[in-house]
Parts: sequence; structure tokens; C-alpha cells
Amino acid sequence: MQEGRCNLKLNVEDIDGEHENAPTMAPKPHESLWFPGGDIVLSTNTYLFKVHKDLLALQSSVFRDMFQIPAIDVDADNEQPVEDNGVGITADLYEGLPLVALAGDEGKDVAHLLQAVYYREYYYRDNDKTPIETIISLLLLSNKYDFRHIRNEVTQQLSRLYPKTLAAFDHVDEDGYSDDLFGMSRVYSDYRLLKACHLADIIFLLPRLFYACSGFEVHWIYEEVDEAGGLDPSCLRTLLTGKSKLDLALRAFIASLPDEFRSISCPTCKVGAYVSRLHQQEGSHLSAYKGHALAQSVLNNGCQLCTTEFANRIEDKREEIWEQIPSYYGFPEWEELLERFDETKIQSVLAFDCRVQSSFAWLTARTPRMPAREADAVVGRC
Ligand SMILES: [Zn+2]
Repeated sequence: MQEGRCNLKLNVEDIDGEHENAPTMAPKPHESLWFPGGDIVLSTNTYLFKVHKDLLALQSSVFRDMFQIPAIDVDADNEQPVEDNGVGITADLYEGLPLVALAGDEGKDVAHLLQAVYYREYYYRDNDKTPIETIISLLLLSNKYDFRHIRNEVTQQLSRLYPKTLAAFDHVDEDGYSDDLFGMSRVYSDYRLLKACHLADIIFLLPRLFYACSGFEVHWIYEEVDEAGGLDPSCLRTLLTGKSKLDLALRAFIASLPDEFRSISCPTCKVGAYVSRLHQQEGSHLSAYKGHALAQSVLNNGCQLCTTEFANRIEDKREEIWEQIPSYYGFPEWEELLERFDETKIQSVLAFDCRVQSSFAWLTARTPRMPAREADAVVGRC
């Protein structure tokens, strides 16, 4: 098979913090993503993908826009462009088909994305055993190239696993927190997903992930961040700053419990009941302070009515803290987040169009082996 002839950029680091070995050989056709009827070849550092322009254009506005840009003329004799428009356009072919270099994307990540595009069974949002590498590749690349359907599926799955209400988050904590998520311990997934959503700027999920990652001691957070391959400094600063604010709010909440009980207690309880063992309440997560369990733990000699009312007040205070959580991490409140970033119709983040387009080296030529109508478009760099 003919060798690819593309200039390649290597990714610096993947989301797991593992550096891929620099390839010493030209990229090879991918085993299951090399379709005989394909009309375009995508190249990465490790794989080539022979796929279909129409299918990519149908699912991705970025590819659709690329394909709509008029082609430049090329010299049929030497397969090189007749002119260079001065913005870095080069030309190349692979077996007569236009070749697009996805600069900066790892072959394995692009393979995950294209598998999801072509094979319906490859990814579905109810499967929480999908490997974390697949989830993160789909999240990052569907966002980068605006594969809207895939991006919506992944973000809806994450929204279910990191829900927007305290009650739902409690439910996740109760029912599944100790279970594996995406093929690894859930806490490991928490930090990797935070890193990915921060990179992809999936803002409506970020406060939930910051919150999920805040429920640990600082030295443990650093260990988990290292395990995830490090976080962007601004992301780590936001995490630690927000955790500090959350911890302060929880301390103030715990300290307020004796007065809170006094304000609601019946005459009998006001005399005979008391709150104790507050120093034993040390959780860094709201799930550690659920109303009924906490009331039972710290209230002594309370009547049933007062105990129930105390538990309700604790729940109210937990909700008050929950409402403040986005602000701890520098975000608007929950409702505004949801209005601005509708979970079911997440708007494409195209502010980085220039970044995306400049990552393409859009290589094309017209040769006797390929009809003129198939000669493809060129894309200038922003
Ligand atoms: Zn009472």
C-alpha cells in the first residue's frame, strides 16, 4: 500500500498524562476505518483514515464548512498547487484522494471519534462502562470539530452522572460512588473528566466536576491531579480556591447547628436536649451532612418532632450551600448556567474556529487519477 506523505505535528500530552512515543514510521491505514468507497483520507501521527466526506459533513459543521471552501487550481503534472495563497496552504494526495492532516490530534483519539461516527454500537450514553479514554476522546474531539450529536450524547451522560441538583447528587453518592465509572475507580474518572471539560470549556458541567473533586484533603487532591497527568494551573487554582470556600461554608454550617436547634426546639427540648460531637463532623462534601443522619448523630434527648424539624433545617442549609457552589468556583448560579448552556441543545463553541482551522493542513490536488469534480477545497489559516 502506498505510503502517506504528510507533515505531522505530534501531540504533547494526552489526557491521561501519558506521552506517546514519537512515531518512527509513517502513519498506517486504520484497520477498521479504511473504507474502499471513502473519498478522503484523514491523517494523524499514527493512523490514516479513509472515510466519506458526506458523512463527516453531515455530522460536523467544521468539516462541512471545510468542504464548502472552493478548491484552488493545481498543476496536474506534478500534483503540486499552481499557486500558494500565502497562508500556508500545501498540497498532497494519498492514492489520488485529498489528504487532510489533523495536526495536533492523536491517532487513537481520532479513531474513537470515527468509530462513534460509523458504528452505532460503539458508544451509547447509557453505558457507564465505556473506557474513560473513549469518553474523553469523544468529548474533546466532538467539541473541537462540532460533531453535535456525539457531543450532546456524551455531555448528557456526564450530566446524569454529575447531576445538577443536590438530591440527585446525593443519590449518585449513595448508589454508585464506590462503583467503578468508565472502567476505573470513580474518583479517578472525576479528575480526568474535570481536566477534559476544562480543556473543552464545557462550562455547565464544570461546577459539578469541581465540586466532585473537592471532597478530599488537599494532599489527596494533589495525588489525584498527578494521576490524571496534571491540571492546567488556572484549573487547579480554581479547584483549590473553591474547595477552600466550600470547606469554610461547611464549617460555618456545622458551627451554627446549636443555635439552629435552639431556635426551633419545643419548650421541653429547649431545656433538656442539646447538640454535641460537632468536632467529629469533618466531611468536605455535602453528602457527609444529610439531614436525618446528622440530626440523629449530633442531637441528644430531642423529641421526635424537634428531631425531624432539625433534620429539615439541616437540609435547608445544605441546599443553601449547594446554591452557592458555582460561585465558589467563579461561575454564575445554576439557573443561569443552565439557561446559557442548555444541556439538550448545547450550542457549538465556535469561538475557537480559528484555532480549529489553523490546526488543519488541508492538502489537495487534481490529478488524472481523480476527476476534477473531486478535487477538493483548501482552507486558509486564520
Ligand atoms: Zn422537642
